[in-house]
Amino acid sequence: MNDGFLSTMDADIGALVRRASRIAWRHPAYLGAFYRLARRQAVSARLREDNRASGVPAPAFLIVSVTRRCNLRCVGCYSHAAAERERADGRTGEMDARTLARVVREGAELGVSFMLIAGGEPLVRAREVVALARENPNVAFPVFTNGTLIDRNLIAELKRARNLIPIVSVEGGLKSTDGRRGNGVYGRALESIRALSRAGVFFGVSFTVMRDNVGELTSPEFVRGLARLRCGIFFYNEYTPIAPGTESLCVDAASRAAMLRALEGFRRRYPAIFLAFPGDEDRFGGCLSASRGFAHIAPDGALEACPFAPFGDTSARDLPLADALRSPLLAGIRARHGELSETSGGCALWNRREWAEAGGAD
Ligand code: SF4
Repeated sequence: MNDGFLSTMDADIGALVRRASRIAWRHPAYLGAFYRLARRQAVSARLREDNRASGVPAPAFLIVSVTRRCNLRCVGCYSHAAAERERADGRTGEMDARTLARVVREGAELGVSFMLIAGGEPLVRAREVVALARENPNVAFPVFTNGTLIDRNLIAELKRARNLIPIVSVEGGLKSTDGRRGNGVYGRALESIRALSRAGVFFGVSFTVMRDNVGELTSPEFVRGLARLRCGIFFYNEYTPIAPGTESLCVDAASRAAMLRALEGFRRRYPAIFLAFPGDEDRFGGCLSASRGFAHIAPDGALEACPFAPFGDTSARDLPLADALRSPLLAGIRARHGELSETSGGCALWNRREWAEAGGAD
């Protein structure tokens, strides 16, 4: 398998963290933490390289879903769909605090640079999430939250754990967000965004990009409004039709191309980071899942290719993470990543789910 893309990825991660350090002047309290993370990137890249050489495909990014619990019930929610599938497979429960801490610590030791904390609503386990960031100061922890559980106490914790970065999810303005997430959710999320901004906390926003909101999410007025609140990271995640019959919600190729062009313009105009998923994957020769660039840990510890394509055959709860990463199924997916290019919108691996569910065998 051609690993040439790894050096591109490591270089991009270095550039990403250096850009974060450059925009940290708007958040002076973060300068120290970001420079430490920037300096750490070279060490983590070497650790990953050494581990890959000894047969452990350590990813740069690990997405850790710490719970399926959530206080909202959004239309087309990935996590609820995943929870239903897990229940059907007899899988329930979430890793306890000690196991979760062990898995995250092992990831840091293997060279993971970013632990993306997701859910469900991860802030239903806020105390444990803060502890994970505190115990692993050399790793960045973006935490994807619906923003409704951010309060004064958590903001005080965030001001101490500078490697823990709240990423508030909205669908656009009031109409789009409340339309998918429920009445009043936009107001509560915006309130949290304003509170984070006032407190000088480095934060970001995350969008599920669909055919009907891509225009709004890439409009100069919308982005300007958030940039003025000193939003530091913008995640544009294309919708994956994990809920059957929702394919029509996906952006088409023309909208995706227009979105990527708009993000290029915003990168030049604003001191912030703009990331598109999977849009930017083409740069790395296609799908980065299955520990090629990232992997997913489900709440019960199952190691999976991706949150949106949750195929796996090992568990980091039952095995040391290094052993779980030696997953034959993930190796099979990595070996054929060239066949996984994002054509008709959404996720190429999800589009090949029969093959992935069959253990990658034809
Ligand atoms: S906040 Fe997130 S996890 Fe909760 S229902 Fe909405 S999309 Fe799902």
